[in-house]
Amino acid sequence: MAIDCLVLGAGQEVGKSCVIVSINGKRIMFDCGMHMGYADHRRYPDFSLISKSADFNSALSCIIITHFHLDHIGALPYFTEVCGYNGPIYMTYPTKALAPLMLEDYRKVMVGRGEEEQFTYENILDCMKKVTAVDLKQTVQVDKDLQIRGYYAGHVLGAAMFYASLGDAAMVYTGDYNMTPDRHLGAAQIDRMQLDVLITESTYATTIRDSKYAREREFLKAVHKCVSNGGKVLIPTFALGRAQELCILLDDYWERMNLKVPIYFSAGLTMQANLYYKVLINWTSQKVKDTYATRNAFDFKNVHSFDRSLLDAPGPCVLFATPGMISGGFSLEVFKHWAPSEANLITLPGYCVAGTVGHKLMSGKPTKVDLDKDTQIDVRCQIHQLSFSPHTDAKGIMDLVKFLSPKHVVLVHGEKPKMDLLKARIKSELGIQCYDPANTETVSFPSTHFVKADASNTFIRSSLTPNFEFLKDEAKAMAPLEVRDGRVTEGILAMEKGQKVKILHQDELLTMIGTEKTEVEFGYCFALRLCSLKRVLPAIEEVSVFDENLLLSVLNMKLSNEVGLQDRVGSLEVNSFRLSICKNNSCPHRSNGDSDGSYEGMFFCCNWSNLDMKLAWRVISLLKNMDSSVDLTNKMPFNNVER
Ligand SMILES: [Zn+2]
Ligand SMILES: [Zn+2]
Ligand SMILES: [Zn+2]
Repeated sequence: MAIDCLVLGAGQEVGKSCVIVSINGKRIMFDCGMHMGYADHRRYPDFSLISKSADFNSALSCIIITHFHLDHIGALPYFTEVCGYNGPIYMTYPTKALAPLMLEDYRKVMVGRGEEEQFTYENILDCMKKVTAVDLKQTVQVDKDLQIRGYYAGHVLGAAMFYASLGDAAMVYTGDYNMTPDRHLGAAQIDRMQLDVLITESTYATTIRDSKYAREREFLKAVHKCVSNGGKVLIPTFALGRAQELCILLDDYWERMNLKVPIYFSAGLTMQANLYYKVLINWTSQKVKDTYATRNAFDFKNVHSFDRSLLDAPGPCVLFATPGMISGGFSLEVFKHWAPSEANLITLPGYCVAGTVGHKLMSGKPTKVDLDKDTQIDVRCQIHQLSFSPHTDAKGIMDLVKFLSPKHVVLVHGEKPKMDLLKARIKSELGIQCYDPANTETVSFPSTHFVKADASNTFIRSSLTPNFEFLKDEAKAMAPLEVRDGRVTEGILAMEKGQKVKILHQDELLTMIGTEKTEVEFGYCFALRLCSLKRVLPAIEEVSVFDENLLLSVLNMKLSNEVGLQDRVGSLEVNSFRLSICKNNSCPHRSNGDSDGSYEGMFFCCNWSNLDMKLAWRVISLLKNMDSSVDLTNKMPFNNVER
């Protein structure tokens, strides 16, 4: 029984998320994304690692898509329509509704760039027909053994984390998520569960974010300054997600500041997306839902469709253009027109995939950008990098890992050096094993197998008695007394042929196997020197002449700070432990070193049963320490009190 994670994409990188998890032999593909920074074979995950013979239908039990971003779904039409996967595919309702818009938008960009068409518009539609839409927290039985369930992930509309279990083995794959709410979406939410493995994104593995409010204001200030100086603002975004969040932000600000500068959306696509957002209001944040009755947050007052003829028109404006990261298409065309002017502003998302124009602009402030070997663009415009992002920060990842406390954590969707730091933190701060496999690597974990057992009445009754522990902070006199139940229940797991496994109380076992209880008694006999005893009870002059009970009482007083023994005639006792003076020279418990008859001292015999093992050795070591400490002072001539 094991869980294997084969990382086909987003291993130590961001882009083409795809993890194949096999739970006790059943395989699930989590996400089927594309890498936006590549146009060659690296664009898609290496599917040949799933099945050499390309028999994907028998190799996979299902595909789960977490959200509509292309780095999570971009390769799906290719995998189903070109590679021939025909099995079940699951995603949430909004993802199913919005994914075709994203896929078609990107397909047009690819074709527009003159690249070979990977899939057609019909392919996208055919692929989506194979998708089963699921609700949040709806348990889906993929087959008779395999169960999956989605949880709200924030991030973008419809994004979900997915739980999968088979028998006792269970895991969660987060996809992208956000642990704090934003303008239009709530924070991720998940139940506490027993997990073998948590696979989490780690885009911001080392970033801790401060107040979002301040960072939003920075963005608004930069945009406002640019347009009031007559400049044009280009906001390259994907059609969905960030576009809506920034739109709410700008539309709101425009209202408050009474600004008349037009805000445009490129093509009709984003307008169509806004329509979907209005319909899918249930998946947005509580705040958006609450104000829905009076005003739908996605009814933008100041936003209009952009017409290509406006590209070189004079005057300020704000334009949302797809795709994000300026990886081609219309946003690249606008970039070519607007980048050379100092008056203009280009905003970039917090994260840009390597290989895109956005990524080039982020790395330092270049004055020129090479688009291809023949085209070079002068960059004189201002660049503003958005410092808020729909991804969780490092604190959010740590909080989620701590909350779920899985046995193992696998980091994906991040950059290697940062992942290494986070991995070390998860190991040292939370004590959880953590891995960050590269693409095409597999990590394996043993999966949990629970044994269901009945319990006998006697055993249950024996476990009902609490064992209170009183903890008091001695340093603080006024500290309240803390009480803890330190009960440990011990039983015996009995497995009889043909019968259900049962936990018994130990007494029951004897009846069950028809035998009597055998007590094992432990004994230890040791000597204390006369000189040490004299220190305790100076009246002892000779071994033969003294009161045994008096000596034992005095010894008991010496020990009373450490252990509580009861005075009995001829012995000190507590529970099964018994200490007495031993006069049997051939005592079988006598330890080897102490058996010499000529020894000037006195022998003490201890007996106890298994239950008092700790206590017995505590008393013996206290007494023997008393002996050796005297021994030490005797060896120091200038410090001899007796003389
Ligand atoms: Zn995403
Ligand atoms: Zn992603
Ligand atoms: Zn003895």
